[in-house]
Amino acid sequence: MRILVSNDDGYFSPGIDALARALSAFAEVSVVAPERDRSGASNSLTLDRPLSVRRAASGYRYVDGTPTDCVHVAITGLLGQRPDLVVSGINDGANMGDDTIYSGTVAAAMEGFLLGVPAIAFSLTRRGWPHLDGAAATAAGLVRRLAPRLFAQPMLLNINLPAVAAADLAGIEVTRLGKRHMAEPVVPATNPRGETVYWIGPAGQARDAGPGTDFHAVEHGRVSVTPINIDLTGTQALPAVRDWLGA
Ligand code: MN
Repeated sequence: MRILVSNDDGYFSPGIDALARALSAFAEVSVVAPERDRSGASNSLTLDRPLSVRRAASGYRYVDGTPTDCVHVAITGLLGQRPDLVVSGINDGANMGDDTIYSGTVAAAMEGFLLGVPAIAFSLTRRGWPHLDGAAATAAGLVRRLAPRLFAQPMLLNINLPAVAAADLAGIEVTRLGKRHMAEPVVPATNPRGETVYWIGPAGQARDAGPGTDFHAVEHGRVSVTPINIDLTGTQALPAVRDWLGA
């Protein structure tokens, strides 16, 4: 099995290294990842300049572009052969609810899926890599179990791994995305020129976090597995808009 591994934290991230090593036990792994932290890059493609690909001493390739660029370049030209699976992560921090819209981790997986390759995004719910080795082993185990299913029925899966010791995991739950409150306000600061600048503030607290959601599952120590759709059509809104326009 050939697996393309990417992420949004950069090719040097402990999370991608742990994941790539764990997957290498049973798969042929190629790592193509951003040269710097591109968290929050979402699905952006770089269209105004060419992209450079270099190889680190680790053998991992890095691109001066976004997570989406990495997977796009890898699948549409860089790799000799098409991967069977794209695996993104392990991200430094959760990607649940509305985070998935902004996430470069999910976007890297999504790009694979858009290009016809089944894909899985992995995130560790607490930042700073607590229990990373256990999380990587859990991720690799899930990839091994899910790969044959995904080859038969291609999907995009978003998986959040609770940051607990493997022995303390309370199982796996298949979830829907929860929702967050509106983001916190921007944080103003003054730059050395005396100008006001703004830091984007933190994401809002979980709002829809009840049973069945990703937030609820990881809160209770379970691995959260959410199948993701890409169809943006507001199907439930079609009748109302047709009615408004008599169309
Ligand atoms: Mn990230």
